[in-house]
Amino acid sequence: MALVESKGLILFAKDHKEKDKLVKIFTESAGKQMFYVRGAHRKNNPLQPAMMPFTEATYIGQFSDQGLSFLNAAKFIHPFRQIQSDIFLAGYATYLLNLTDAAIEDRVYDPHLYQFLKEALLFIDQGKDAEVITNIFEVQILQRFGVQFDWMRCAICGETKGKFDFSSKYNGLLCEKHWHMDERRYHADPRAVYFLQVFHQIGYHQIDHIQISSEIKNEIRKLLDALYDEYVGIHLKSKSFIDQMKTWNQVLKPKED
Ligand SMILES: [Zn+2]
Repeated sequence: MALVESKGLILFAKDHKEKDKLVKIFTESAGKQMFYVRGAHRKNNPLQPAMMPFTEATYIGQFSDQGLSFLNAAKFIHPFRQIQSDIFLAGYATYLLNLTDAAIEDRVYDPHLYQFLKEALLFIDQGKDAEVITNIFEVQILQRFGVQFDWMRCAICGETKGKFDFSSKYNGLLCEKHWHMDERRYHADPRAVYFLQVFHQIGYHQIDHIQISSEIKNEIRKLLDALYDEYVGIHLKSKSFIDQMKTWNQVLKPKED
């Protein structure tokens, strides 16, 4: 196998045997790859900083078409330092990494998703609202799970203005006039539906212009959870961790909003 070089984001690393590690990296040029790193725990192993959680680097190694890949070296190591040192930010970032891992198969070339994930981590690292960034990520990555809705108009009449709810019967939005067509519609807060419409079409840099109260954030969370339950159906530990974390958050920051 020839040596290959690619930027990559650490998805996770786990110990293997006494001295080795398995490190899963989302590479920009060859998709997700599992790397076997012999002697990873050896003192002064130069690869150590490049294997830390929440790191981007340029990885050099043998990238395999099947089975394990091997890591030889790394350069241009960029740790996301704020995420590494903050348990709340790390919680959100871990969830985004796990979602990415779940959304596409190994070795599938997906530079758009790579960039989208990297930007999310950069913005969280810069102190932007991690909850909103996570929500934008969750809405836009739905299509990688094979889930696509028309977020812009009523599934029955095409109406684009007014209040909307979500209907699984129609696989999309219903305007207020057509709510009666599905008694089992989500009964979501129309403001939460509105923000998902917005999140579907904005970049992370645009969130500076958005103010969302914690009440509406909770409604957005409920709606996304319902959509993920019904259409994606995965249960990630890191997601439960975020949900728990939100209750600590209220304890630590009682005056917010
Ligand atoms: Zn309608």
